[in-house]
Amino acid sequence: MFKGVLIEKDEQGYRAALRDIDDTLLMDGDTLIKVAYSTLNYKDALAITGKAPVVRKFPLIPGIDLAGTVISCSSGKFKAGDEVLLNGFGVGEVHSGGLAQKTQLQSMWLIALPKTLSAKQAMAIGTAGYTAMLCVMALEKHGVKPDSGEVLVTGANGGVGSYAIAILAKLGYSVVAATGRMAEAQYLTALGASEIIDRHTLSEPGKPLAKERWAGVVDSVGSHTLVNACASTKYGGIVAACGLAQGMDLPGSVAPFILRGVTLAGIDSVMRPLHDRIEAWDRLAKVLSANTLEQVSTEIGLAQVCDTAQRLLDGQVRGRILVNVNQL
Ligand code: NAP
Repeated sequence: MFKGVLIEKDEQGYRAALRDIDDTLLMDGDTLIKVAYSTLNYKDALAITGKAPVVRKFPLIPGIDLAGTVISCSSGKFKAGDEVLLNGFGVGEVHSGGLAQKTQLQSMWLIALPKTLSAKQAMAIGTAGYTAMLCVMALEKHGVKPDSGEVLVTGANGGVGSYAIAILAKLGYSVVAATGRMAEAQYLTALGASEIIDRHTLSEPGKPLAKERWAGVVDSVGSHTLVNACASTKYGGIVAACGLAQGMDLPGSVAPFILRGVTLAGIDSVMRPLHDRIEAWDRLAKVLSANTLEQVSTEIGLAQVCDTAQRLLDGQVRGRILVNVNQL
């Protein structure tokens, strides 16, 4: 038996709760892991509350992120005692995930924990930080450099937004943070934002083309915000789109793409090939200081996960939620 959050769906309805879970509920996989830390992402919050059909197999343990120690691995990729890290690959959606003290999954989904990060630090970063780094790598690959001009980060107080600001600022970019929580301006400035703008200037329907301002954009919000970000991106610039906190719609025009050569780059972290993951995590380990990880993350125990999921969807959570699965 081990403790974990379990999501069930049957004639009694959809529900998630902290439970004592029998080992027979472990799913197929060649690797058994003692989980140390997990996280609570936007997607986990949707899964736990049932607000969106994230979970496609029941019963299921949510948690798209985990870091822990290998107990056994029959594929030979890892040995007992190795510290490993997982993000995505359908874990927390179709395969039981990290919000429990134990999990069994496929070794091909795992990467070794970077040597300079503890399991706790890796989960303070989690999918949010890893996705933020993938967005920054897309900007770099497109040729955006610190002297190219300002970079806009939307959803600034969220997990992806907070880490995008911290990474870009550390790399020398001038970062403009768009937020609905101007009261958190001090936090955003401490992360490295040079200017804070009210997200309402971006979240309403706008013109097909606006004044050119951004050399690059990291957008975790979607909908009108993404459309307006594209419309105000400079000639030849790039918008890395990874999220849908405002909406999944894209109510815009092709004008920025065909008249200004703007590139809209889709960023997916879930099925990303291992070599990109390893590069992103190596860079995260180098760029982010222990101090930044503490600034951005708040630690909770397993028993607080379900309540915190609702608060996260209500926009009341700042930065990252780190879950110590061995603390109730
Ligand atoms: P989060 O911590 O909940 O942050 C989302 C932020 O978006 C909020 O803090 C808020 O920032 C802003 N926001 C919320 N509702 C909004 C609205 N109606 N209009 C405009 N802004 C709004 O979530 P997260 O973990 O950072 O994830 C952000 C998004 O990225 C989610 O949609 C998530 O599913 C997606 N994501 C995608 C991938 C991928 O692989 N593509 C990976 C990770 C996350 P302010 O309070 O500062 O305004």
